[in-house]
Amino acid sequence: MHEFSIALDIVEIAVETAKANNAKTVNEVEIDVGEMSGVIYEALEFALQSAIKGTILENSKFRLNRIKAKAICNKCKHDFEPTDVMSVCTSCGSSDISLVRGKEMKVKSINID
Ligand SMILES: [Zn+2]
Repeated sequence: MHEFSIALDIVEIAVETAKANNAKTVNEVEIDVGEMSGVIYEALEFALQSAIKGTILENSKFRLNRIKAKAICNKCKHDFEPTDVMSVCTSCGSSDISLVRGKEMKVKSINID
């Protein structure tokens, strides 16, 4: 399961950060998940719940930020919200578009004590 290995990565980053800062607890981990990252939010939340068992993160909160996708048309420079990777420009219909946001999958912040 794709989401499970992502969850393990997130837990590892948070645990390492906590250790490096001599933290006793991790209050909250904020994660940016783009709409086009291919990650299923519910599956990631579920995977996190099992990935944190037995770690310092067991009582931590996880905040998943859904990042809306944004694309720019290379032909007319119109920017819009694509609905999937096969989207075309909503202004001129060109398929020559660049995704500028929405593929992120990263730990944004870790709140420790
Ligand atoms: Zn266009």
